Amino acid sequence: MKRRYLMTPGPSPVPSVVREALACEIMHHRTDEFIEILKEINEGLKYVFCTKNPVLTFASSGTGAMEAAVTNLFSVKDKVLVIVGGKFGERWVEIAKSYGLDIVQMNVELGNSPTAAEVKKILDENKDIKGVFTTLSETSTATVFDIKGIGSLTKDKNILLIVDAISGLGQDALLTDEWGIDVVVSGSQKGFMLPPGLSFMSVSEKAKSFMKNSTLPKYYFSLAKALKSYEKNDTPFTPAVSLIVGLKTSINLIKNDGIENMWANFKKMSQAAQQAALALGLKVFSKCPSSSLTAIVSPAGINAKDIVKKMRKEYGVSIAAGQGELEQKIFRIAHMGWINEQDLIMCFSLLEKVLRDCGYTNFKIGASVARLQEVIYG
Ligand SMILES: *Cc1c(COP(=O)(O)O)cnc(C)c1O
Repeated sequence: MKRRYLMTPGPSPVPSVVREALACEIMHHRTDEFIEILKEINEGLKYVFCTKNPVLTFASSGTGAMEAAVTNLFSVKDKVLVIVGGKFGERWVEIAKSYGLDIVQMNVELGNSPTAAEVKKILDENKDIKGVFTTLSETSTATVFDIKGIGSLTKDKNILLIVDAISGLGQDALLTDEWGIDVVVSGSQKGFMLPPGLSFMSVSEKAKSFMKNSTLPKYYFSLAKALKSYEKNDTPFTPAVSLIVGLKTSINLIKNDGIENMWANFKKMSQAAQQAALALGLKVFSKCPSSSLTAIVSPAGINAKDIVKKMRKEYGVSIAAGQGELEQKIFRIAHMGWINEQDLIMCFSLLEKVLRDCGYTNFKIGASVARLQEVIYG
């Protein structure tokens, strides 16, 4: 068996202390002991999300909470703006479409961030827009969006801002309350250093007022039910007990590092990865690179999927190819959660070998590793 190195943008690696917590004896959830744990994680999530508002936890992958944002806050024919700059913006469109919302779609060139001015223009032209759906880190292109700028447009208006931060949270800075974000959605398998299976969702007071008017069907993902239980540090249904216990440990790791320090560290890792790609004569795909992952354009004539396959088959290193139209054009290296600088150095040293094996030799051996060391260690 080969040792496995997960450098994919979800799932991402889980530290051993968290894995040990996950292996705990299963406890019953309607007990004082478990309620104490829920109380602690509910407080801890507020810290990670930079909010004073409730952050709900569901047993689902991240998309479950995305769907909950649509079904609990809107009704059929409500007009919403969806910002699409890749695969995950498209997911918002698909969900909103499934529930009959009236969608104004803003397409952003792949690898670019929407500007506040462009968003403002659409909001000015469509005074009946009730919500804006967007993404913190568009994982399919490794691009961070200007959420602060968009927040400044919706903050003091009766428009909800809903942000998919499933891959971005913990890496790309996100000041939920300060930037006026009503709903932030995330998941367990990226920055939280946990296996897949939990989704999270912060809910502002403005969002609560929209909840009252929503007539779309919901049951398992009812925010009204979830919030009622949340007030008592309880859950409406059986929670994912082991994952919640693991979450307690992972939140402690995040608190020990400090969320601002994490943002700074991942930004540095992102810059290091970009520089390493350039040192190999390669191009960074995004014009606004996310701190969560780096997308690199595959050298001319080499299919990105072949690079990804060789990395995994020969060295046990999992990175990701592109998605959709970018599938064969880019490969993506994650730096999120438990992934650290040393992992990046290991990953790029093997990438050099794989690139040579694929026939790309336009660099000196060790060039990317040397550049990484310069950027990381100074
Ligand atoms: C991974 C990811 C998702 C998908 O979440 P699931 O947990 O697979 O449901 C959604 N949005 C973004 C930006 C992601 O990176």
